[in-house]
Amino acid sequence: MQEILLVKTGEIALKGLNRATFENMLIKNIRWRLKKSGEFNIHRAQSTIYIEPKSSDADLDDAVERLKKVFGISLFSRALSTEKDIEIIKKDTIEYVKDDLMGAKTFKVKAKRADKSFPLNSPQLQAELGGALLEAYPHLKVDVHNPEVTVTVEVRDYAAYVYAEAIKGAGGMPVGSSGKAMVLISGGIDSPVAAYLMAKRGLELHAVHFVSPPYTSDRALQKVEDLCQKVSEYSGRIHFYCVEFTEIQEAIKNHCQEELFTIIMRRLMMEIAIKLAKENNISALVTGESLGQVASQTIGAIVATDNVSDMPVFRPLIGLDKDDIVKIARKIDTFETSILPYEDCCTVFTPKHPKTKPDLQKVIDDQNSFDFAPLVEKAVKNVKMKQIQSND
Ligand code: ATP
Ligand code: MG
Repeated sequence: MQEILLVKTGEIALKGLNRATFENMLIKNIRWRLKKSGEFNIHRAQSTIYIEPKSSDADLDDAVERLKKVFGISLFSRALSTEKDIEIIKKDTIEYVKDDLMGAKTFKVKAKRADKSFPLNSPQLQAELGGALLEAYPHLKVDVHNPEVTVTVEVRDYAAYVYAEAIKGAGGMPVGSSGKAMVLISGGIDSPVAAYLMAKRGLELHAVHFVSPPYTSDRALQKVEDLCQKVSEYSGRIHFYCVEFTEIQEAIKNHCQEELFTIIMRRLMMEIAIKLAKENNISALVTGESLGQVASQTIGAIVATDNVSDMPVFRPLIGLDKDDIVKIARKIDTFETSILPYEDCCTVFTPKHPKTKPDLQKVIDDQNSFDFAPLVEKAVKNVKMKQIQSND
């Protein structure tokens, strides 16, 4: 028996004329993600993507697990591919859905006839196949409203497909279909979740991380790279930029007012992130900020940081509570890494009483009391770039 995977796209179906572009991008992402599961023929027709194993070596169980992390898929099924002959469909279906039906009391059959040349229409096909299943499994009852198992049969151009279970996909849009963004990533709980959520909306991820050796350690950097690797299981490869920030932080400490340290540091982080973004054709920034979570995430502080940015700053967590963020962090398996107790450059030289309502002009004046530009240029010039992707 030949099994295949049938993929239904979610929002892509709404894309009208651009639909083919989105679907092709999704196919490219699927191809890349299933490389280690074996060889597959992947193509699209009639608003479905077909993933057919090229040989018996292809590992469908593994492919199913990987597909669950591909954005742009709303539902998918592992299906039997069979001949478009009602007697063969009946015989094969009875065998293929045996385990699902033996464990259930109620079922229904849903038929879709996309190939109008097939001699039975959808209601007839439903009745025929339903009858055959009832005969084979007499313990069952039909329940059209609330069945425990729905056996779906789709008659399409080249074959008929049968499945009993639809698997929920990761949703969202194919990574890359919305362009590129630069995530400011720390070792905390929030920014990896923000990165995941924006990849889900179709952004290809670039991530910048600021380190301040010797105040921050190699292990702290490793932790952030590990987090990126976890996120990359969903987002695909992440372009990672590591920026050395020590001199800038020391200059802030030596020249700026203590209560403004954090806000000025965040403005300089943003300036550097924007320069790197522009050099790499990236059009938006992403941060893990959530309104009011800490002193640097009040409206006043956000106004003061956004003031240096001439590109959109996406803050997907802005309206979420910490509990909500932690739930997502657990789901994507970043939480346990995030709570490892390594230092972040943000916690170096933190003011005792940070300003929660900073006056923008005072912040600008204070920052201008020292010429940061050469240090910013130097930090950008010395950036270290690498690609991070999941191992398996
Ligand atoms: P997170 O939980 O993501 O670490 P946080 O709660 O520690 O965030 P802040 O320290 O105020 O919050 O940082 C706010 C945002 O600034 C982070 O979500 C992240 O986008 C960015 N950020 C913080 N530290 C760094 C860093 N070392 N490198 C790059 N970006 C950073
Ligand atoms: Mg936070």
